[in-house]
Amino acid sequence: MLKVENVSTYYGQICALDNVSLMVEEKEAVSVIGANGAGKSTLLKTIIGELRPKSGNILLSGQSIIKEKTFKLVSRGMTLVPEGRHVFPLLSVWDNLLLGGYTLSAKERQQRALEVTEPFPILRDRKDQLAGLLSGGEQQMLAIARAMMTKPKLLLLDEPSMGLSPKLVYEVYDKIMELYLQGTTILLVDQNAEMAIDFCSRGYVLMAGRLVGQGTQKELKESELVQRSYLG
Ligand code: ATP
Repeated sequence: MLKVENVSTYYGQICALDNVSLMVEEKEAVSVIGANGAGKSTLLKTIIGELRPKSGNILLSGQSIIKEKTFKLVSRGMTLVPEGRHVFPLLSVWDNLLLGGYTLSAKERQQRALEVTEPFPILRDRKDQLAGLLSGGEQQMLAIARAMMTKPKLLLLDEPSMGLSPKLVYEVYDKIMELYLQGTTILLVDQNAEMAIDFCSRGYVLMAGRLVGQGTQKELKESELVQRSYLG
């Protein structure tokens, strides 16, 4: 479904991704783990077209998307839930959801907002509340539900556990699991290596912009590098 081939991305002179290649098959859940500054967000921003790589190629369903604009990629079925959630704090929960459906007609948007809140009853209960008044976990759920508005086939998740208590991390991952079981393909990056590895059947290890490991869930868990550097 998604193929990243030898991608390098720079910020000016700084190389943040160095010759990175990975792939995600349809209906897979794949993790990318790595420490602070490893290049995880840069990777997702490059895939979704927010950053342009200096070299390499990215294919979605066999077609190069290296020059595609982000909104086009969203209509082609790929959405990013950004790090830090970025909900609009002064808009209601419902209006945040409707904004996520900007590629849909007004009528479809209302219908879709009802559908995406099915797994998130708390968002229905709080639909008229300002999004900025939600707890961190609820905001994360809103950001995920908002990303589902365009019916993505491939959901990119950037640090879904960031800043959440352990209980909320489990709740958020439970919801992501529901979306996965409904058929959504998932590529997720998280500093919380344990959660990310446990959730996904396969994964990659990113260190200082380079891929330094990859494997199945079992292989990652048994890897000395992963145990030493990320699982403590
Ligand atoms: P974190 O979990 O802290 O977000 P990350 O793995 O997502 O880390 P990135 O945010 O992708 O890492 O950053 C990779 C590298 O690129 C880091 O060295 C970072 O300082 C640098 N970087 C990120 N954004 C910019 C920017 N806008 N300008 C310059 N350098 C940047």
